[in-house]
Amino acid sequence: MYDQFNRKINYLRVSVTDRCNLRCVYCMPEEGIKLISHNDILSFEEIIEVIQIAVNLGIDKIRITGGEPLVRKGIVNLVQEISKIQGIKDFGMTTNGILLEDFAEKLANAGLNRINISLDTLNPETFKQITRGGDIQKVLNGIKAAKKAGLMPVKINCVIKESPKEKDAMEVAEFCHKNGLDIRYIHLMELDKGSFSVVEGGEGGNCKTCNRLRLSANGFIMPCLFSDIAFNIRELGIKNAILKAVENKPKCGTSSFNHKFYNIGG
Ligand code: SAM
Ligand code: SF4
Repeated sequence: MYDQFNRKINYLRVSVTDRCNLRCVYCMPEEGIKLISHNDILSFEEIIEVIQIAVNLGIDKIRITGGEPLVRKGIVNLVQEISKIQGIKDFGMTTNGILLEDFAEKLANAGLNRINISLDTLNPETFKQITRGGDIQKVLNGIKAAKKAGLMPVKINCVIKESPKEKDAMEVAEFCHKNGLDIRYIHLMELDKGSFSVVEGGEGGNCKTCNRLRLSANGFIMPCLFSDIAFNIRELGIKNAILKAVENKPKCGTSSFNHKFYNIGG
């Protein structure tokens, strides 16, 4: 699929839940969020149908995200079903890694190709502060398990305030270097203020080459993280919602008041 600015759209990011087992300061308010009601959350059948139709239309790269995807019940089964869809060339997941030690091998066996794990610091206290209570050891165990399971390349998403030269980011980079992990730096963003920039060492944030669509956990296809444009698959039909999203993908993002990282998955 090509949009009106001749960008080839081949990447769908799928948020499977808005729930999360952490409360990162830059992503969720401390008191938690008003959760999408269970009735509104897409069923596995609906998610699989959206992906199948998207693949028929030219999508060949899928990433599962959240909220935290590993808290969605039955996630391994979902991964297994998605991996059976012919035509997906790249199938990844983004996770905070807290539950990954238990899941890595099961996900690899179910057909997941690779994984991105979020880690902004190596300091257990700073990690606890950023995530409001998370245990870094669990993430480190998860990273090990992901490597062992062959979910390669294991990539680390490291959120930075200004520069990869910040102390925490440098320490994470050294850890990645020693352990054969790729690192990508995501600048801290504020969706409502329209502050965004290019991901260093990865893709994303570059409007000229943006190839993405997003599916929210409650069934909206969204052509841009920094725009409130969204098309409901249940009201419009899946194919129509995808085509409308491509047709209406903005040339460049501005700002979004409806989107939050926890409901759109970054
Ligand atoms: N829970 C999973 C995780 O944390 O990896 C997946 C969803 S999370 C919303 C996806 C990515 O968005 C994470 O790497 C996280 O660090 C990043 N993120 C969340 N809020 C952000 C913000 N305000 N600015 C930049 N990145 C953000
Ligand atoms: Fe949860 Fe990921 Fe948001 Fe942190 S960044 S609160 S782990 S969804």
